[in-house]
Amino acid sequence: MTLAVLSSCALTGIEAPPVRVEVHLGSGLPAFTVVGLADTEVRESRERVRAALLSSGFEFPAGRLTVNLAPADLPKESGRFDLPIAIGVLLASGQIAMPSLMQRKPDASGPPMLERLVLAGELSLTGALVPIAGALAIALSVSRRRPDAALLLPVDSARQAAQVPGLRVLGATTLQDVVAGLEEKLDLGVAAPPASARGPELLCLSEVRGQAQARRALEVAAAGGHNMLLAGPPGSGKSMLAQRLPGLLPPLDRDSALEAAAIAGLAGGAPPAFGLRPFRAPHHSISSAALVGGGTRPRPGEITFAHLGVLFLDELPEFGRHVLDMLREPMETGHVAIARAMHRTTYPARFQLVAAMNPCKCGWRGSNVRACTCTPDQVAAYRSRISGPLLDRIDLQVDVPAPGDDWTELPAGEPSTAIRPRIAAALAAQHRRQGCCNALLPTRGIDEHCQPDEAARALWKDAMRRFAWSARAAHRVLKIARTLADLEAAPDIGVAHMAEAIQYRRPLAER
Ligand SMILES: [Zn+2]
Repeated sequence: MTLAVLSSCALTGIEAPPVRVEVHLGSGLPAFTVVGLADTEVRESRERVRAALLSSGFEFPAGRLTVNLAPADLPKESGRFDLPIAIGVLLASGQIAMPSLMQRKPDASGPPMLERLVLAGELSLTGALVPIAGALAIALSVSRRRPDAALLLPVDSARQAAQVPGLRVLGATTLQDVVAGLEEKLDLGVAAPPASARGPELLCLSEVRGQAQARRALEVAAAGGHNMLLAGPPGSGKSMLAQRLPGLLPPLDRDSALEAAAIAGLAGGAPPAFGLRPFRAPHHSISSAALVGGGTRPRPGEITFAHLGVLFLDELPEFGRHVLDMLREPMETGHVAIARAMHRTTYPARFQLVAAMNPCKCGWRGSNVRACTCTPDQVAAYRSRISGPLLDRIDLQVDVPAPGDDWTELPAGEPSTAIRPRIAAALAAQHRRQGCCNALLPTRGIDEHCQPDEAARALWKDAMRRFAWSARAAHRVLKIARTLADLEAAPDIGVAHMAEAIQYRRPLAER
């Protein structure tokens, strides 16, 4: 055989579009060319493939080798094409004997094995297979596109990929093992690591003493998927509250847990505990590319790593204003699109935002612990760093006062395990009624599902005039009132629900 064709895949966003790897060995002066809009890393792959073949005891064929990665217009990065290229070279030069895989077995149905095999893996110079980033995203994408495919990956990556139910996954540690597997001398099957018997450790809300209003607001945020802003002096427990939101939310179902793990795997790091909702807390010095994603070769940002979980932005006014403004669109759409010259990459970014801020630059305004040293102008300037449109998108805005001296004497609060069933019931009711949580209800849905009774409507209209709310802000109050009613399993929004909802929406400057 002088032409070998193998299947591999690229990775754009969390999708893995197919890439055909064609390897042709012709006569002529020795040469090794890779074509198909391959970037630097793919060109470097030539050197790794050559060294890996020689270190593994194979011959590097003398002749004119041409590798084509198709389709040409798909951006291809990373070393994951090393493995299919190396196998292609071995096939084209007749160094693998695998008749049973090359042809349809008389008794077997379906296409021959090699046509169903999708290979990806980087090679070290010694011929060892190096784990690839995004193995689980690749596996999910391949299983959706080609349920009959078998995926062959470096063994560590293969164990992650094997979590996808129904997909046949093979793993190997060296190029020699891959060849032995293809020649049916070695079984390359792998199994997913057993799920940890013990559930992930979740932080409990009972550890937050006092702060009854903030604890209540956190429960409301969890019960309706609402974004929230906590304003209070240093040491009042804003971070502690935020860290406890993932533990109040219902655990991820299997599909969502796989999606979250696939996204975590894009960074190449260790996956988080399976089923645990992500919690991301980037520092305020973060760049816009690191927060929302970007770079010349698009990379997901913190908002994508927070997908299906919580994004915590502490000291919100200290973030760059243009960085914060880039959050607005993903907060509406649930995804982020990164456009580059030829290509557009989309990442999911459906996160729940918890932001925290001090009441002023020095942090002590309104406190009876220490005096604020800010001038009124400084206070105004500090607060104006958060744009109105961003504040409009934050449903709940809550004061977290400094704890009094007696906070150690306060009884422990209600534990998360007691609160979680109320939240799960409220969210389930919302999904039954309208197919989404209250925070994501579109305007049309608000008109249909968030009708207050007469007294509540009068209160709402009065507050709208008094606080000069935008239409968006007024709608958000209706959604919070709906969540408060859902927490009580009340069919209608009453005046008590509306009064409490308005409390979460008073302008910060009034406090
Ligand atoms: Zn101050």
